[in-house]
Amino acid sequence: MIGAQEHRGRGRASWALVLLWLVAAVWAVPAAATPLHINAPLCHAVGPLAAPDDALSALRFSCSGEPTGYRDGSLWLRADVGNRSEDRNGAALMVHFSRFDRLAVGFTYADGQTRWQTVRRGDYGAHWRVGGQILFETPARVAPLTAVTMRFDRLADHSLLRARLIPKENASLQAAGMAALVGASLTLLLVSGIYSLSLAVAVRRQYLLWQAAWSGVMIVWGALWSQIHLVIFPAMAGTVSAQASTLLACLAIGVATASAVTAIDARHLPHALRRGTLALGLAIAVAGVPLALLRTGNLQMLGNLLGIAVILDLIAVALCIGWSWRKGSVEARDFALAWCLPMATLAIIHLVDVEDGFWGGGSKLAVLVAATWQALWLSAASTRRLAHLRVERDDALAAEAQANELARRDPLTGLLNRRGFVDAVTPLLDHAREGALPAALLLVDVDRFKSINDIYGHEAGDAVLCRIAERIARWEGTMCSVARLGGEEFGLLTIGMEGIMLDRFAESIRREIALCDHSDTMGDRPVTASVGVAEVRPAPDFQYLYRIADEALYDAKRAGRNRINVQRVPPRGDGAPDAGDRGIAYPA
Ligand code: GH3
Ligand code: MG
Ligand code: MG
Repeated sequence: MIGAQEHRGRGRASWALVLLWLVAAVWAVPAAATPLHINAPLCHAVGPLAAPDDALSALRFSCSGEPTGYRDGSLWLRADVGNRSEDRNGAALMVHFSRFDRLAVGFTYADGQTRWQTVRRGDYGAHWRVGGQILFETPARVAPLTAVTMRFDRLADHSLLRARLIPKENASLQAAGMAALVGASLTLLLVSGIYSLSLAVAVRRQYLLWQAAWSGVMIVWGALWSQIHLVIFPAMAGTVSAQASTLLACLAIGVATASAVTAIDARHLPHALRRGTLALGLAIAVAGVPLALLRTGNLQMLGNLLGIAVILDLIAVALCIGWSWRKGSVEARDFALAWCLPMATLAIIHLVDVEDGFWGGGSKLAVLVAATWQALWLSAASTRRLAHLRVERDDALAAEAQANELARRDPLTGLLNRRGFVDAVTPLLDHAREGALPAALLLVDVDRFKSINDIYGHEAGDAVLCRIAERIARWEGTMCSVARLGGEEFGLLTIGMEGIMLDRFAESIRREIALCDHSDTMGDRPVTASVGVAEVRPAPDFQYLYRIADEALYDAKRAGRNRINVQRVPPRGDGAPDAGDRGIAYPA
């Protein structure tokens, strides 16, 4: 019942998060930014590499159709921005693309002047921002900005270019926002990856290893996509990064599939579905290699095929999760909740164009943040599940210990029973034997107990037993164990006590029992006990001691009851005890 409520609550929480994500997606498309795309409003021209930047004025721009033949030349892209009223303090151009040899940005003003800023691949200088943005700010001038021109030398592909013109005052805020989101996502992915890996080592679960691997792949993918790696490897800008990103994206899907399927108990899934989903994930991961390496051929068609395979994979994983959830798999439920945000993100980025949103991070930033959510949720779910298992194991151990203890105790008096007594005294006797110490067993049997039951009733008999047990329990200690061996017979085992000391001890037991007050149940009828004592050196096993003590007790009864009888067994020449016959009886 509680589980169901908690479950519903968690479900609501995840839907609330998905909704929040939707709102953020819409909100994150900044109104003040102008995305610059070919023909909207970028016009294009293609020229030779050798032309100087100020050849701009002589170029003829076309504002329709797609530019071609620029890969070994220069692609000029020009946007007439005319009197942007919101840019009173100047504008900033943010370019999220690095697959070129050289990029020159020219800001043209109403007075006809153009100011150029240039970066080269691997040398972005002060223009580079964390998150992979290259930022160009307009110089402070009185004349208003009329046009922005980007000149790319040896550009890889114009269709992948992302550029936005924003008010200057927003530029640093957006760069910081983007950097913060990317930095936080990568850090959290790293933390959850390390955490999953340590958990995998500690509890030896395969799916945790896959989870850690998935976090690792997403970290490298996120670093490459956001181009954070350019801080360390500036030369990796461009094609190498793009190829690695393709490979990693495919690998991430394969690893995520493996982590979901291996987390679910195989008994909860049909064999064919499990195998099929794993095979599909593996195929996508492997397909990433040729896709990343291919530079020619029908890339578009291969891309479409991969897209279909990814959708099939997602459906297969969803089927696995749904199926095993219905069969009661907790892991499946955790995965469903962890995957709902990435799924919603994938749906949103296909329905809403967010490419220019999220401070320029677009759909990839959304995927990175959703992946971070998934990694954190899975880590938290694993922790919760393991903690749960731990608590259950501790409870089971405690219950087992309690059951064992109950089996060792007599329920009426709370003293050890015969089984518990034998368990407790066996190590004591072994210890005594090693130290050549004497051991003694005192058997205490209540005299004519049957008549107490007969005259005063069974309950009065029980009360007598309890009172005697309470008195005897006071002798319990490190060198003396106490038990109710059955009926109205009690046992005390001592180590190291012998001779007159033992005689006195046995006598004090007899006397103390006789002095017990039972007036509440039996008036002034006295209750006495006989004590049979076996003293053996060195200590023998329990069975042997018991036999001697029982004989001693029998003799005490025969001699008239309410007395002690001590049987001493002297050491034999070979060290083993021998039943001698030096019995000493003390009448009361
Ligand atoms: P003796 O002096 O020779 O020991 O005589 P006895 O009557 O004490 O010995 P006997 O063995 O004839 O009787 C023991 C009685 O103890 C019989 C049994 O009904 C009673 N008894 C055993 N266990 C319990 C118990 O848990 N509660 C009560 N009230 N009586 C018990
Ligand atoms: Mg008896
Ligand atoms: Mg008796």
